[in-house]
Amino acid sequence: MLTVGVDVGGTSVRAGLVDAAGSVLDLRRAATPSGDDALEDAIAAVVGELAADHGWAPQRRPGQRRPGQRRPGQSRSGGVAAVGLAVAAFVATGRRQVHFSPHLSWRGAAVADRIERRVGVPVLLEHDANAAAVAEHRFGAAAGARVTTLVAIGTGIGGALLVGGELFRGAHGVAPELGHLRVVPDGRPCPCGKRGCWERYCSGTALVTTALELLVRWRGSAGPLATAATADPGRLSGRRVAAAARDGDPVARRAMQELARWLGEGLALVADIYDPQVVIIGGGVAESATLFLDEAREHYAATVTGAGYRPLARIRTSQLGDQAAIVGSALLARALIDG
Ligand SMILES: [Zn+2]
Repeated sequence: MLTVGVDVGGTSVRAGLVDAAGSVLDLRRAATPSGDDALEDAIAAVVGELAADHGWAPQRRPGQRRPGQRRPGQSRSGGVAAVGLAVAAFVATGRRQVHFSPHLSWRGAAVADRIERRVGVPVLLEHDANAAAVAEHRFGAAAGARVTTLVAIGTGIGGALLVGGELFRGAHGVAPELGHLRVVPDGRPCPCGKRGCWERYCSGTALVTTALELLVRWRGSAGPLATAATADPGRLSGRRVAAAARDGDPVARRAMQELARWLGEGLALVADIYDPQVVIIGGGVAESATLFLDEAREHYAATVTGAGYRPLARIRTSQLGDQAAIVGSALLARALIDG
């Protein structure tokens, strides 16, 4: 029995056909359009492409089936039986609705129902970091861990917590919002309305902010990053800063050291709350982990409460990489058909 996991991100919609062992058998991708209808059409289209190429005929007849109810013969068909959507959004506790998403158009939207009507099979919603954490716990870097925290570092920070293999979502379904822990009082402004949030210091966006601050402070410094920033500061990206750090650019390397410091300090806060056995570092910035992870581990070990006298969390990078949310949401969707 196969399910489809869809990672609905701010720039792309990626759908994967996933088997019970967590293997991604096929992938489709589309650009994320703006507007609810266009976005839902794009999701239905990538799922439909997988369906068409793998011999599954979606039943586009709304209202025939309760959500999660198995279609006759579905479990023996060998086709796609359910779809999991991993979204960077506040997902309501029933996992049928999106309350709000900073990078997508949905506001108070009954997303699961709408996509079910389009694709004709049960649909489940999950926060993308939660989906990634489930996949890493089942098949990846957190296999067998009792308490796992996932920190997905990209444009911002996405967080997830698994206790005994189960997701912890808090009372209203939105925990843990790790990126907005305040690490610097009166620090850098954050789009959430606060100042000094962790993700303002530890993200791809933060790498750019730090690099630009350093270039002002070290006026006249040489190097490819200084040249690029002088030409067009608006075009610097976290990926570019990471590439420059890899090439030995002094400003970029210092920006990376700052990220390492704040990652370590933030993880020390996380350890005070959750005391995780394993911390998974995911997201796009994790692809550059060799540039910062050892240093972040040192900061974490030095600043965690009780440093030197307590067991430390193992801090690892994601094993499933940018497919973690696809695999996790496809895995969670299996619950709609397995029982
Ligand atoms: Zn914030």
